[in-house]
Amino acid sequence: MLINQPLGPKKVVGTPIPRPDRNASVQTYIPEIAKGLAMTMAHFFRNTKEMALGQRNDPTIESISDGINCVSYPEQRRPYAERFRGVHRLTHRADGSPRCVACLCCSTACPAQCIHIEPAEYPVGDSRRGYERFPARFVIDELRCVFCGFCVEACPCDAIRMDTGIHAAPYDSREQFIFEKDLLMSFKGRDGSQLSENPRHEPGDPTHPGVTREHGGH
Ligand code: SF4
Ligand code: SF4
Repeated sequence: MLINQPLGPKKVVGTPIPRPDRNASVQTYIPEIAKGLAMTMAHFFRNTKEMALGQRNDPTIESISDGINCVSYPEQRRPYAERFRGVHRLTHRADGSPRCVACLCCSTACPAQCIHIEPAEYPVGDSRRGYERFPARFVIDELRCVFCGFCVEACPCDAIRMDTGIHAAPYDSREQFIFEKDLLMSFKGRDGSQLSENPRHEPGDPTHPGVTREHGGH
């Protein structure tokens, strides 16, 4: 801290800048608007003259020189790209049950929080009881979904996919966008299958990678 510093306002050294003259012409921007319009019109007339004389190509004529493609939607549809994320589906096992093990990874990853899962145990006598769960309820609110695909990425079982090729339909009530498990399991992939090409190794299956119910201690 400086001591013996003189009190009072500091003396400022500098060159004063004169204030611009803010008359009505400046305040209304009319001269600047006129200048901008004049420049735009100059470009317009020059380009038009050059195109009329054949000195410049017409980009509009060029773009339709090969004809115009019309798609008579919805009778005709453009094919979606391979990576298109459509309405979700739940994939099946060979016995028709869901591949989903109700691990909740997808609902945890979902940024829109639009997946609701209620896990349940398989019945007594089923080899999967005590080993893995299944979704008693699996609900997706397709209206809240932002189609990011995080749920598909998060799933360790390839149980949820967005390869149906179906885009969300324009329903007229919110309830119609609530897709329950049965509906999600009824959709097929674009290859027409409800399965997945990824193999699934069931508990006790010789192809299972080293874990059986006995080894798992159940
Ligand atoms: S696509 Fe994204 S927003 Fe939609 S359910 Fe999956 S994780 Fe949620
Ligand atoms: S769909 Fe996949 S990530 Fe979601 S609960 Fe089922 S197994 Fe887990």
